[in-house]
Amino acid sequence: MTNPFDLTGQVAVITGANTGIGQGIALALAAAGADIAAVGRTPAEETVRKVRDLGRRAEIISADLSTIEPVQRVVDEAVDKLGKIDILVNNAGIIRRADSLDFTEEDWDAVVDTNLKSVFFLCQAAGKFLVRRFGETGERGRIINIASMLTFQGGIRVPSYTASKSGIGGLTKLLANEWAGKGVNVNAIAPGYIATNNTSALQADETRNRQILERIPAGRWGDPQDLGGAAVFLASRASDYVQGHILAVDGGWLAR
Ligand code: NDP
Repeated sequence: MTNPFDLTGQVAVITGANTGIGQGIALALAAAGADIAAVGRTPAEETVRKVRDLGRRAEIISADLSTIEPVQRVVDEAVDKLGKIDILVNNAGIIRRADSLDFTEEDWDAVVDTNLKSVFFLCQAAGKFLVRRFGETGERGRIINIASMLTFQGGIRVPSYTASKSGIGGLTKLLANEWAGKGVNVNAIAPGYIATNNTSALQADETRNRQILERIPAGRWGDPQDLGGAAVFLASRASDYVQGHILAVDGGWLAR
């Protein structure tokens, strides 16, 4: 029996791959055999070097996903540089914090445009390629969207982030409905509290940090590498029959 988690020869496009969760996922997919197109604003030089050290191909694609303007170019450039796309990981995301009574239109649009609008249109651009490529071949393309605990919960002081991440949950299910029969699996990963730049202020706040740690059954912050296994699973043949699922990787946060 062949290894169902083997990604040798597959090409994965990952947004926001220069740091944090995106970098962790890029390295895990590369360790499983995939070549990597690292998409983002800041060139993912460290990620590309580490992927190449693993013996895989890696390319940087520069794109600011605060608008949908670059999405078709991202797909075209990945195909141009690496020959094809098998896997898309929509990871790039931002957060803005303020009370809902004071929340500005600018903070709403910035977050929803990056975390939801660009994700949908990148799914669409990659989806056209993947449906055409896989169709009814029996093999499958994969899209993995990075959701959040706030896909399931309300949170506080993060209205546009919560709206964007619960939107990701619905979108993941809708696209799975539409594309499961067309050779494309669409799923999501919902990370819990992961130690990255995104959460550095929370980690630095002693009181908040203690409250968070007390609330996580595993008793620790997640590390970007903790997302690797879930990403390899959802990117591989091991998850052929998994469609529209949102897989929590949260140290038990939602179990509480
Ligand atoms: P980081 O802030 O460490 O990384 C975010 C990534 O997104 C960076 O690569 C960043 O690029 C990229 N990005 C942001 N805006 C844009 C843009 N306009 N165009 C292109 N790339 C962009 O955060 P995390 O690694 O923590 O977050 C990754 C994902 O995981 C996000 O979607 C986040 O919402 C989600 N998540 C994180 C959790 C956590 O606890 N850390 C929990 C739940 C979900 P650049 O460096 O150039 O800004």
